[in-house]
Formats: sequence, structure tokens, C-alpha cells
Amino acid sequence: MELDSLYQQVILDHYKRPKNKELKPNPTVQVHHVNTSCGDEITLNLKLSEDFVESVTWVGVGCSISQASTSVMSELLTGKNTSDALELVDEFQRMLQSKGSDLGDESRLEDGVAFAGVAKFPARVKCALLGWMAFKDAYNRIIKTAQPPKWKMSEGYDKARKQDAIRNALALGRLSEEKYQKY
Ligand code: ZN
Repeated sequence: MELDSLYQQVILDHYKRPKNKELKPNPTVQVHHVNTSCGDEITLNLKLSEDFVESVTWVGVGCSISQASTSVMSELLTGKNTSDALELVDEFQRMLQSKGSDLGDESRLEDGVAFAGVAKFPARVKCALLGWMAFKDAYNRIIKTAQPPKWKMSEGYDKARKQDAIRNALALGRLSEEKYQKY
């Protein structure tokens, strides 16, 4: 597999000196993902703190692409708010599935763009995506089991009630449009 030499170096650096490759205890959730086509495996601990990614730590074995890509992912997503983190995962996935037409935005994906060339090698795409898909899976598991915070529920409820009250008042002619603007 021939990749741009600068990108090859980035991948090699992450492979030799991986970031966050040590499981932090007490994660919000732990997932284990396997890429059978290559034999790559990772275990990922994700810890969220409110809407932020507090930590992404992992251990794994496998090819340099899978391990380096997981390292890049963990470095990029740590500290991000969850919606930004998920957008970055989608961007990375789009790039990998573009067959080489999407080179990625370095200002957003940072070292992740080093894997753009992997998109031309279908057999290796799963290697590069392994850690990123594990992150997405871990996040989805948290969301599935989590109860929405109480304040969010009451805020939504109060807002809906207020809007109903405004609509009713407008319908009854008790509220001028001008006054409505103040709400
Ligand atoms: Zn692999």
C-alpha cells in the first residue's frame, strides 16, 4: 500500500507512540470491537462528563492502520463536546468511504487526514474506521440507557406550556402581536 510519505510518517508515529492507549478505570461505558477481516481488536473506555467527552482510552492489537487511527481518534475527540465529536466521526467516515475523492479537512480532522489515502484500499477501510466506530457505538450505548437530566425535561415542558398559553391568548385576541414579540 502506497501512501503519501508525510502521511505514512504520521501513521507510524501514532502506531509507535499511541495516545491514550491505557484503559482509564470507571468509564461511562466500555466496548470491544473486532475487525475480523484483518484481525484488529480494540477495547475502548469512554467517559462522558455532561455533554463533553472527558476521556477516550483504549487498548488493542492489530495492524498499524487500525492502532494508529484509534490513537488519532482518541486524541482528537477528548475534550470535545459530544455533538462536535460525533460530527468529526461522521466526517472521518465520509472521507474513508469516498474511495479517495474526499481528502478531509485538516483544520477539523487534524492527523485524521493522514488516513485519506486508505480510502483507495477497500480492504483497509475497516481497519481505519475500527476505533471511530467503537466510539460511536459507545456513545450510542450511553444515550440509549441514559435518562434525560431532570432540568432538561422540565425546561422542555415549561417551554411547551408557555407556547400553548401564548397561542391561546393570541387566538382569543387577548394578546397583541406587538406584545407577543416580547416573549
Ligand atoms: Zn487492520
